[in-house]
Amino acid sequence: MLIIKVEELKSERRMLRIREVLPWKTFEFRGEMHRVLQPIQVDISVHREEKDIIVNGTVRTVLEARCDRCLTKLELPLKGEIEAVYKRYDPAKGPMVISGELKDCDNVIYYSDDEIDLTDRVRESLLLEIPMKILCKEDCKGICPYCGANLNEEPNHKCTRMYGVRAQESKFSVLKTLKL
Ligand SMILES: [Zn+2]
Ligand SMILES: [Zn+2]
Repeated sequence: MLIIKVEELKSERRMLRIREVLPWKTFEFRGEMHRVLQPIQVDISVHREEKDIIVNGTVRTVLEARCDRCLTKLELPLKGEIEAVYKRYDPAKGPMVISGELKDCDNVIYYSDDEIDLTDRVRESLLLEIPMKILCKEDCKGICPYCGANLNEEPNHKCTRMYGVRAQESKFSVLKTLKL
């Protein structure tokens, strides 16, 4: 469970350790579901400083992804970091203006319940680690834009379809067919 019961942290000296293996089978990023290839391992420590709850930890997993250039399936190992400060927010005191403070430090989160759910922190920490460009290797050659052949496997690929397209586009191709 990724839920912290605030009551358990009443004593300031108390440190909670959350070590969990999450049963998530898939993980969503870039608007698509991706298979979780190695169980998501969470190791988080939680302690209290006055009314703030300080959360630190790591999240590890391996996700299935596809190379952005050649579309080959690959394993994407991720190690995310969690660093967050939960501050007590008392709803009885009315709405709180938090925008200014959040700008300075966006890992400050406000809590008002007796429980804090860390699920979103786990998800964020992994999302932050997903590279802008996912590549099977640095120099991936990608695929042929005409027929989709993998150019890593066929480095000397000469596309017959490419010539086909060009021939059709060319006015001379008509003449060629007439001659035949
Ligand atoms: Zn690739
Ligand atoms: Zn081709």
